[in-house]
Amino acid sequence: MKSTADVVIIGGGIQGTSIAYHLAKRGVRNVVLVEADLVGSGSSGRSAAMILLQMSREMTIRLSQESFKEYLNFDQEFGVDIGYKPIGYLNLATKSVADELRAQVELQRRFGVPTEMLSPQEIARRVPAVNVDDVEFGAVCWQDGVIDPHMVMQTYVQNARKLGVEFCEKVEATGIVLEKDRVVGVNTSDGFVATPIVVNAAGARAAQVASWVGVQLPITNYKRTVFITDRFDAIADDAPFVNDAEVEWYFRKEGKGILMGMGREESTTYEPQLEWEFLDAIIERALHRAPILANARVMRGWAGMRSLTPDDYPILGRVPNVDGFINACGWGGHGVMHAPVGGKLIAELIADGKATTLDLTAFQLERF
Ligand SMILES: Cc1cc2nc3c(=O)[nH]c(=O)nc-3n(C[C@H](O)[C@H](O)[C@H](O)COP(=O)(O)OP(=O)(O)OC[C@H]3O[C@@H](n4cnc5c(N)ncnc54)[C@H](O)[C@@H]3O)c2cc1C
Repeated sequence: MKSTADVVIIGGGIQGTSIAYHLAKRGVRNVVLVEADLVGSGSSGRSAAMILLQMSREMTIRLSQESFKEYLNFDQEFGVDIGYKPIGYLNLATKSVADELRAQVELQRRFGVPTEMLSPQEIARRVPAVNVDDVEFGAVCWQDGVIDPHMVMQTYVQNARKLGVEFCEKVEATGIVLEKDRVVGVNTSDGFVATPIVVNAAGARAAQVASWVGVQLPITNYKRTVFITDRFDAIADDAPFVNDAEVEWYFRKEGKGILMGMGREESTTYEPQLEWEFLDAIIERALHRAPILANARVMRGWAGMRSLTPDDYPILGRVPNVDGFINACGWGGHGVMHAPVGGKLIAELIADGKATTLDLTAFQLERF
């Protein structure tokens, strides 16, 4: 590993690798990325792999729109197929969330997101497996879809590496060295790297990394579990992603099987483990919303972490009083879909002194 760098990125998830690529693309190439395990081994390799325009707030809609530009252009930019399938994301509005979802649809349309509203009859026609008895309407954007996050990360890594970025897997950052409130380097399990800039893209460990420089991040880690079933032909291959908004339970087709996800349990460990007992809770919800899923045979599953801030916006940018420390974390349930713009914004901040694609004010730590 190099002993000096212009920038050290802590964390090789989809955000860290995107930052590495976008920095290199803008000419900042003396960059080292340290990843404690393997690239993609954190939340980025455990997501439901959805990218959505159908976001609930102005700034997240804009993050999605900027990211879609890059995702839809991956083929041209890199010659890589990231497997984008616009299956659509269908949000089911039951009584308790109907007003909120209606307001979100209005907001999305104001920002040019082509969200459609479907009647319960229309939902039942399109996805007969769904019980619509207690559903007031559905909101769907047909451009929302699934991608392959591993392909995205590998593409960022390969292209950043070609431009000079050094990726160090199985290297853990263990501390940040300051001199007079200014970053001067990072201690790692593979030695010290002198650097004036550290980017905190450490996902679920971001608050721990920030604490090394005396910065407190209001991030809480929540565990979410996903199960995959065996081949299940009773739900059509072209069915949209269906989200029961009130209880945050969802399913979509995964190959010929079904992916089901749920869970918002605060986690005290950084390594969430799959608990098979949780399958009962997911199936219980399935019995109400899509009873036919009771016949599906669950084959495997995994658990991952969503690192949420109190307002569900990420924490991006510099912090007061610690020169050279930059946060790129708190991505919650949107870190995959917002990876292109996340990397671009941090690269602009470092290379140009200011993010220009979007104003970072809403994402600054000082808002709390
Ligand atoms: C079940 C589930 C479903 C999801 N579905 C979606 C979805 O459909 N769409 C979407 O956009 N988002 C989804 N998300 C959220 C998304 O996965 C995350 O927001 C995103 O992966 C965060 O990326 P990241 O790069 O910030 O973090 P991570 O991918 O967690 O990367 C952080 C990395 O930092 C490394 N690290 C930590 N500390 C250190 C250290 N000290 N030294 C070196 N390395 C370190 C870790 O090993 C890790 O690899 C989902 C999450 C879960 C759990």
